[in-house]
Amino acid sequence: MEPLVRLNDFQKQWRSIREVALSAVDRVGESGWLILGSEVRHFEMELATKMGCAYAVGCGNGLDAIEIALRVLGLREGDPVLTTPLSAFASTLAIIRAKGVPVFLDVDEAGLLDLAKVRRFLEAQPSARAFLLPVHLFGHCLNLDALAALRERFNLKIVEDCAQAIGAASGDRLVGTVGEIAAISFYPTKNLGCMGDGGALVTNNAEYAARASALRNYGETAKYRHEFIGMNSRLDEIQAAIMSHALLPRLQQSTECRRAIAAFYRSFISHPRIAIPPEPVNSRSVYHLFPILIKGNRESLRQHLRSLGIETAIHYPAIIPDQPAMAQSKFSSTDSLVTARQFADCELSLPIHPELTERDLQRVVDGCNSWND
Ligand SMILES: *Cc1c(COP(=O)(O)O)cnc(C)c1O
Repeated sequence: MEPLVRLNDFQKQWRSIREVALSAVDRVGESGWLILGSEVRHFEMELATKMGCAYAVGCGNGLDAIEIALRVLGLREGDPVLTTPLSAFASTLAIIRAKGVPVFLDVDEAGLLDLAKVRRFLEAQPSARAFLLPVHLFGHCLNLDALAALRERFNLKIVEDCAQAIGAASGDRLVGTVGEIAAISFYPTKNLGCMGDGGALVTNNAEYAARASALRNYGETAKYRHEFIGMNSRLDEIQAAIMSHALLPRLQQSTECRRAIAAFYRSFISHPRIAIPPEPVNSRSVYHLFPILIKGNRESLRQHLRSLGIETAIHYPAIIPDQPAMAQSKFSSTDSLVTARQFADCELSLPIHPELTERDLQRVVDGCNSWND
């Protein structure tokens, strides 16, 4: 029996960063400074540069980074936030925690928020306090020219959820540079994952960055002075050190690797009942995930691949407004969200990460093509 083709392989990743990561941990230990010190400051600078923004603020996780971003932009209780029904639950959860009201609009053929629908919605219901939380899902980048045009025309406040798309671009624009603030997650499966929980937000606005720094740390603006009702959501020195020294230096290479795998799958998966959704216009995607759409019995393909030792996942089995927790929360949907539901019913994610071997990729392709549907 050949080894499993895994969805993620953290053991293998550890073996390739072990030396550097251990010495990063050692340096933090020897420094005697464990929270909000020079490692976090250094990592924030590197991250800001990487994201093409002036400021980065490390947080405890991606969920908190989105919540903090919305609060920094002045979201008030009951303000509507337009967003996608197809994402990690955290996107919507952040809106609810910040006391906003999610308004779900449908996705496009790539599975990302349909910006044409956002435009039509705002034309029909102009609002002086409109917030938008678009998600660059699957490692794709939404069309940022279109997003910028929306921002200008409707005076929108935008938080870009870049949890799955660090390093992606749309033409010449980097992901996260059109919204006032962008939020990132370093959850281990993400393209830049740390060894535990972590997140950050990036912005070009000094005031937003300062307020976010305070909010992540009890709302503290100077020693023992608390100007805001903040939270405790700090990035650890150890996580920052490991990312700076071991993981961030590999990001570009692992992104190229993900792109090559995506190109391979696109070229060689040829089963008539498997469709591969397109990239959004102008997207330079970083392929956090590789979604395919199954016309037929998804479970039968999953089972077939499992029998060949290939792991798969579903992103996401239900759209967010259908989650039980949403019954306790105010929200609205603009229509029946048909395309998002189609993704929930038909999507399957194939393994895509830099630890896969050529043999693994061939097995995935052969497995898909040999499915007897
Ligand atoms: C992972 C993820 C988040 C949440 O990040 P955490 O660090 O797990 O809190 C938010 N949005 C999207 C799109 C994600 O994929």
